[in-house]
Amino acid sequence: MAAKSQPNIPKAKSLDGVTNDRTASQGQWGRAWKVDWFSLASVIFLLLFAPFIVYYFIMACDQYSCALTGPVVDIVTGHARLSDIWAKTPPITRKAAQLYTLWVTFQVLLYTSLPDFCHKFLPGYVGGIQEGAVTPAGVVNKYQINGLQAWLLTHLLWFANAHLLSWFSPTIIFDNWIPLLWCANILGYAVSTFAMVKGYFFPTSARDCKFTGNFFYNYMMGIEFNPRIGKWFDFKLFFNGRPGIVAWTLINLSFAAKQRELHSHVTNAMVLVNVLQAIYVIDFFWNETWYLKTIDICHDHFGWYLGWGDCVWLPYLYTLQGLYLVYHPVQLSTPHAVGVLLLGLVGYYIFRVANHQKDLFRHTDGRCLIWGRKPKVIECSYTSADGQRHHSKLLVSGFWGVARHFNYVGDLMGSLAYCLACGGGHLLPYFYIIYMAILLTHRCLRDEHRCASKYGRDWERYTAAVPYRLLPGIF
Ligand code: NDP
Repeated sequence: MAAKSQPNIPKAKSLDGVTNDRTASQGQWGRAWKVDWFSLASVIFLLLFAPFIVYYFIMACDQYSCALTGPVVDIVTGHARLSDIWAKTPPITRKAAQLYTLWVTFQVLLYTSLPDFCHKFLPGYVGGIQEGAVTPAGVVNKYQINGLQAWLLTHLLWFANAHLLSWFSPTIIFDNWIPLLWCANILGYAVSTFAMVKGYFFPTSARDCKFTGNFFYNYMMGIEFNPRIGKWFDFKLFFNGRPGIVAWTLINLSFAAKQRELHSHVTNAMVLVNVLQAIYVIDFFWNETWYLKTIDICHDHFGWYLGWGDCVWLPYLYTLQGLYLVYHPVQLSTPHAVGVLLLGLVGYYIFRVANHQKDLFRHTDGRCLIWGRKPKVIECSYTSADGQRHHSKLLVSGFWGVARHFNYVGDLMGSLAYCLACGGGHLLPYFYIIYMAILLTHRCLRDEHRCASKYGRDWERYTAAVPYRLLPGIF
């Protein structure tokens, strides 16, 4: 299939945003138009290996009690062949397929058919119809924000089943974990492929499509910016938030139920992982309107990275701590548990306050107090593809004056807390902090590249005022 080419696209020379000496580009601040060899190699590597990475982790838990080196050692020493490991892997089952179909259908119905009522009675909660940010083509999309409602109703049903109805066992997710993995992969690949075809043949907003000329990059990073079916079914909002994030807390609850079934009690480590991750998930839904202004929605196009990532990577790898604790029921000493709880809560506090400061600042157009004072501001401007000039502001106070992405530091502290809750027995539960450190560092560079393209010299003024990205004095 021939890719469409885009002439005269300005390209940033530097990723650091500090040395960028261009003025703001016109409506081209979204993802890349051209692919360098490193990006292409990374894309092909991920397309080839990411599904195996997920399989390897889950299989290592199932067959080797979460010992990551177990399968490799067995194969190298001749104790097992790849075919032996594969033969022991549970296949897809009719039950898992039915469960998964029911789950996704239920979430689609909650998303599309039930307008938000939470904002009518929950003070401070912003739901219902909300606007996203201006896209590079100058479009402002409207969204139905009803994620909190979907999360609450789903969990209400879960608890009603566990305590009253007994339609299914609370261990159902754990018991079908690998068969469900195949279902999640089918959906992940189906939705990514559909998004690619849709981008070529019937895009929602053709002006916001991007074609790099490289099939693999287009497939992975997406062509359409905001693919939709009908007026309200927004692929990015749905797949990012549900089914993956709604499922996150249910998956953890199922792991806790399995731990109790196997070991007759739920350990404090499992409680900590459930509680800290539930805070993160509820925060996500409470602030779903804020989420419309994050990079996932404002920058990323919808391709395999988001489609498959939300269906498979997120629910399977973000929940590794709970899975690990089923096999290793760690009971932490009181000082260790308190330390983990404090780290998780302080991390969450920084994450939330930093994100809130930016949101408040943007929402009030700078007419607010940050840490009790009038905020310092950098006025900036950019041009969208329709040639329209827009004005914006960058916050230089609060956490945004400490470092340019201090919100990521809070997230990293929280992520480390989940891992430390699992003790020091195995490497597997620490995958999450390693992954988050790579993800957020890469994201930070990506975002700065984008902001440098969008704001040009105004962004340079910000990087001069706030010289560090994550940690003052270090990076
Ligand atoms: P940010 O919320 O940091 O958003 C970056 C955008 O904010 C920039 O593109 C720019 O957009 C604007 N901006 C940057 N600097 C300033 C400033 N000084 N003042 C005002 N606006 C500014 O990034 P993310 O969307 O990546 O992250 C949101 C949160 O989600 C983070 O806390 C992150 O840790 C978390 N996250 C979690 C993930 C997970 O898997 N658990 C994955 C990714 C993120 P504009 O064009 O509007 O100027």
